[in-house]
Amino acid sequence: MPAPRVGLLGGTFDPPHLGHLLAATEVRETLGLDTVRLVVANDPWQKSAERRVTPAGTRLRLCAAAIGGDTGLSVDDVEVRLGGETTTARTLAHLRAREPASEFVVVLGADAAARVPTWRDGGACLAEVRVVIVDRPGSAAPDPDGVLRDARRIEVTQVGVSSTEIRHRVAAGRSIAYLVPAAVHRLIDREGLYRTGS
Ligand code: ATP
Ligand code: MG
Repeated sequence: MPAPRVGLLGGTFDPPHLGHLLAATEVRETLGLDTVRLVVANDPWQKSAERRVTPAGTRLRLCAAAIGGDTGLSVDDVEVRLGGETTTARTLAHLRAREPASEFVVVLGADAAARVPTWRDGGACLAEVRVVIVDRPGSAAPDPDGVLRDARRIEVTQVGVSSTEIRHRVAAGRSIAYLVPAAVHRLIDREGLYRTGS
Protein backbone atom coordinates (compact mmCIF):
# COMPACT_ATOMS: atom_id res chain seq x y z
CA MET A 1 0.00 0.00 0.00
CA PRO A 2 1.43 3.42 -0.87
CA ALA A 3 2.27 5.73 2.03
CA PRO A 4 -0.71 7.90 3.00
CA ARG A 5 -0.18 11.50 2.01
CA VAL A 6 -1.69 13.73 4.66
CA GLY A 7 -2.14 17.50 4.63
CA LEU A 8 -2.15 19.27 8.00
CA LEU A 9 -3.93 22.60 8.35
CA GLY A 10 -3.29 23.70 11.90
CA GLY A 11 -5.25 26.46 13.54
CA THR A 12 -7.41 27.68 16.35
CA PHE A 13 -10.61 27.28 14.31
CA ASP A 14 -12.54 29.62 16.60
CA PRO A 15 -14.71 29.05 14.55
CA PRO A 16 -13.85 27.17 11.32
CA HIS A 17 -15.07 29.00 8.20
CA LEU A 18 -15.19 28.79 4.43
CA GLY A 19 -11.64 30.12 4.05
CA HIS A 20 -10.29 27.13 5.96
CA LEU A 21 -12.44 24.62 4.10
CA LEU A 22 -11.70 25.95 0.62
CA ALA A 23 -7.95 26.15 1.27
CA ALA A 24 -7.90 22.60 2.66
CA THR A 25 -9.98 21.20 -0.19
CA GLU A 26 -8.11 22.91 -2.98
CA VAL A 27 -4.66 21.97 -1.61
CA ARG A 28 -5.85 18.38 -1.30
CA GLU A 29 -6.99 18.40 -4.92
CA THR A 30 -3.90 20.12 -6.29
CA LEU A 31 -1.49 17.73 -4.56
CA GLY A 32 -3.70 14.64 -4.77
CA LEU A 33 -3.48 14.13 -0.99
CA ASP A 34 -5.47 11.38 0.69
CA THR A 35 -6.82 13.79 3.26
CA VAL A 36 -6.30 17.21 4.75
CA ARG A 37 -6.77 17.29 8.50
CA LEU A 38 -7.85 20.32 10.46
CA VAL A 39 -5.48 20.12 13.43
CA VAL A 40 -7.14 21.95 16.29
CA ALA A 41 -4.71 23.74 18.60
CA ASN A 42 -5.21 22.95 22.28
CA ASP A 43 -3.74 26.15 23.65
CA PRO A 44 -2.59 28.53 20.94
CA TRP A 45 -0.23 30.32 23.33
CA GLN A 46 0.27 33.36 21.12
CA LYS A 47 -3.50 33.97 21.06
CA SER A 48 -4.55 32.86 24.51
CA ALA A 49 -2.31 35.56 25.95
CA GLU A 50 -4.53 38.14 24.25
CA ARG A 51 -8.10 36.86 24.34
CA ARG A 52 -10.25 34.11 25.78
CA VAL A 53 -10.04 31.26 23.30
CA THR A 54 -13.11 28.99 23.14
CA PRO A 55 -12.53 25.63 24.91
CA ALA A 56 -10.77 23.12 22.67
CA GLY A 57 -13.57 20.57 22.94
CA THR A 58 -16.03 23.07 21.53
CA ARG A 59 -13.65 23.97 18.68
CA LEU A 60 -13.27 20.26 17.86
CA ARG A 61 -17.05 19.91 17.64
CA LEU A 62 -17.26 22.99 15.43
CA CYS A 63 -14.67 21.47 13.09
CA ALA A 64 -16.47 18.13 12.96
CA ALA A 65 -19.67 20.02 12.09
CA ALA A 66 -17.81 22.04 9.45
CA ILE A 67 -16.60 18.93 7.66
CA GLY A 68 -19.84 16.99 7.97
CA GLY A 69 -19.74 14.07 5.55
CA ASP A 70 -16.82 15.35 3.45
CA THR A 71 -14.57 12.32 2.98
CA GLY A 72 -11.63 14.42 1.79
CA LEU A 73 -11.23 16.35 5.03
CA SER A 74 -10.88 15.24 8.62
CA VAL A 75 -10.32 16.60 12.11
CA ASP A 76 -7.25 15.65 14.12
CA ASP A 77 -7.45 16.01 17.90
CA VAL A 78 -3.80 15.15 18.51
CA GLU A 79 -2.97 18.57 19.96
CA VAL A 80 -5.95 18.51 22.29
CA ARG A 81 -5.00 15.02 23.49
CA LEU A 82 -1.42 16.15 24.08
CA GLY A 83 -2.75 19.08 26.10
CA GLY A 84 -0.85 22.14 27.24
CA GLU A 85 0.59 24.78 24.98
CA THR A 86 0.54 23.81 21.35
CA THR A 87 3.66 23.92 19.20
CA THR A 88 3.96 22.57 15.68
CA ALA A 89 7.32 20.99 16.59
CA ARG A 90 5.73 18.83 19.28
CA THR A 91 2.76 17.96 17.08
CA LEU A 92 4.92 16.88 14.15
CA ALA A 93 7.19 14.79 16.36
CA HIS A 94 4.14 13.05 17.80
CA LEU A 95 2.50 12.45 14.42
CA ARG A 96 5.70 11.08 12.93
CA ALA A 97 6.04 8.62 15.81
CA ARG A 98 2.37 7.64 15.58
CA GLU A 99 2.26 7.29 11.80
CA PRO A 100 5.80 6.59 10.58
CA ALA A 101 4.62 5.61 7.09
CA SER A 102 2.69 8.81 6.37
CA GLU A 103 4.00 11.68 4.32
CA PHE A 104 2.97 14.97 5.92
CA VAL A 105 2.37 18.26 4.13
CA VAL A 106 1.99 21.31 6.38
CA VAL A 107 -0.41 23.91 4.97
CA LEU A 108 0.00 27.52 6.08
CA GLY A 109 -2.00 30.59 5.16
CA ALA A 110 0.17 33.56 4.18
CA ASP A 111 -0.29 35.26 7.56
CA ALA A 112 0.61 32.10 9.44
CA ALA A 113 3.66 31.60 7.23
CA ALA A 114 4.81 35.15 7.99
CA ARG A 115 4.69 34.32 11.70
CA VAL A 116 6.84 31.19 11.50
CA PRO A 117 9.94 33.09 12.75
CA THR A 118 8.02 33.82 16.00
CA TRP A 119 7.55 30.10 16.73
CA ARG A 120 9.54 28.81 19.70
CA ASP A 121 11.78 26.77 17.40
CA GLY A 122 11.82 29.46 14.72
CA GLY A 123 10.14 26.95 12.39
CA ALA A 124 13.07 24.50 12.45
CA CYS A 125 10.56 21.62 12.62
CA LEU A 126 9.36 22.48 9.12
CA ALA A 127 12.68 21.36 7.64
CA GLU A 128 11.47 17.76 7.92
CA VAL A 129 8.15 18.11 6.09
CA ARG A 130 6.79 19.54 2.88
CA VAL A 131 5.28 22.98 3.35
CA VAL A 132 2.59 24.64 1.26
CA ILE A 133 1.68 28.31 1.55
CA VAL A 134 -1.71 29.55 0.37
CA ASP A 135 -2.48 33.19 -0.24
CA ARG A 136 -5.00 34.98 1.89
CA PRO A 137 -6.60 38.35 1.16
CA GLY A 138 -4.88 41.09 3.11
CA SER A 139 -1.81 39.02 3.96
CA ALA A 140 1.36 39.11 1.95
CA ALA A 141 3.18 35.79 1.79
CA PRO A 142 6.67 36.03 3.25
CA ASP A 143 9.74 35.86 1.06
CA PRO A 144 10.71 32.25 0.56
CA ASP A 145 13.85 32.26 2.65
CA GLY A 146 15.07 30.41 5.73
CA VAL A 147 12.94 27.44 6.72
CA LEU A 148 10.33 28.35 4.08
CA ARG A 149 12.90 28.26 1.27
CA ASP A 150 11.41 25.14 -0.30
CA ALA A 151 7.77 25.92 0.46
CA ARG A 152 5.42 25.64 -2.47
CA ARG A 153 2.80 28.30 -3.17
CA ILE A 154 -0.60 26.97 -4.17
CA GLU A 155 -3.34 29.23 -5.44
CA VAL A 156 -6.68 28.80 -3.74
CA THR A 157 -9.95 30.66 -4.09
CA GLN A 158 -9.52 33.90 -2.18
CA VAL A 159 -12.07 34.42 0.57
CA GLY A 160 -11.60 37.41 2.81
CA VAL A 161 -13.12 35.83 5.87
CA SER A 162 -11.52 35.29 9.27
CA SER A 163 -12.63 33.76 12.54
CA THR A 164 -12.07 37.15 14.16
CA GLU A 165 -14.58 38.74 11.80
CA ILE A 166 -17.10 36.00 12.49
CA ARG A 167 -16.74 36.45 16.25
CA HIS A 168 -17.17 40.20 15.86
CA ARG A 169 -20.24 39.79 13.67
CA VAL A 170 -21.93 37.47 16.17
CA ALA A 171 -21.14 39.87 19.02
CA ALA A 172 -22.62 42.72 16.99
CA GLY A 173 -25.76 40.72 16.22
CA ARG A 174 -24.93 40.54 12.52
CA SER A 175 -25.46 37.55 10.25
CA ILE A 176 -22.71 34.98 9.62
CA ALA A 177 -24.81 33.06 7.10
CA TYR A 178 -22.74 31.66 4.19
CA LEU A 179 -19.43 32.50 5.87
CA VAL A 180 -19.53 29.22 7.78
CA PRO A 181 -21.24 25.93 6.89
CA ALA A 182 -24.86 25.79 8.02
CA ALA A 183 -24.04 23.13 10.62
CA VAL A 184 -21.42 25.43 12.19
CA HIS A 185 -23.89 28.30 12.15
CA ARG A 186 -26.46 26.17 13.97
CA LEU A 187 -23.95 25.08 16.61
CA ILE A 188 -22.86 28.68 17.25
CA ASP A 189 -26.52 29.69 17.65
CA ARG A 190 -27.46 26.74 19.78
CA GLU A 191 -24.53 27.13 22.19
CA GLY A 192 -24.67 30.92 22.24
CA LEU A 193 -21.02 31.20 21.23
CA TYR A 194 -19.28 34.54 20.62
CA ARG A 195 -22.18 36.69 21.81
CA THR A 196 -20.16 38.50 24.41
CA GLY A 197 -17.45 39.42 21.96
CA SER A 198 -14.54 38.00 23.96
P1 ATP B 1 -8.32 34.33 13.73
O1 ATP B 1 -8.92 35.53 13.07
O2 ATP B 1 -8.94 33.97 15.05
O3 ATP B 1 -6.81 34.33 13.78
P2 ATP B 1 -8.30 32.77 11.31
O4 ATP B 1 -9.43 33.02 10.40
O5 ATP B 1 -6.98 33.41 10.99
O6 ATP B 1 -8.74 33.09 12.81
P3 ATP B 1 -6.92 30.41 12.13
O7 ATP B 1 -7.52 29.29 12.90
O8 ATP B 1 -6.04 31.38 12.84
O9 ATP B 1 -8.13 31.20 11.42
O10 ATP B 1 -6.16 29.88 10.84
C1 ATP B 1 -5.73 28.55 10.65
C2 ATP B 1 -4.97 28.46 9.33
O11 ATP B 1 -5.86 28.74 8.24
C3 ATP B 1 -3.83 29.49 9.20
O12 ATP B 1 -2.76 28.87 8.46
C4 ATP B 1 -4.47 30.60 8.39
O13 ATP B 1 -3.52 31.37 7.66
C5 ATP B 1 -5.37 29.80 7.45
N1 ATP B 1 -6.52 30.60 6.99
C6 ATP B 1 -7.49 31.13 7.75
N2 ATP B 1 -8.38 31.80 7.03
C7 ATP B 1 -7.96 31.72 5.73
C8 ATP B 1 -8.48 32.23 4.49
N3 ATP B 1 -9.57 32.98 4.45
N4 ATP B 1 -7.79 31.93 3.37
C9 ATP B 1 -6.65 31.18 3.43
N5 ATP B 1 -6.12 30.66 4.57
C10 ATP B 1 -6.76 30.93 5.71
MG1 MG C 1 -5.45 33.51 12.37
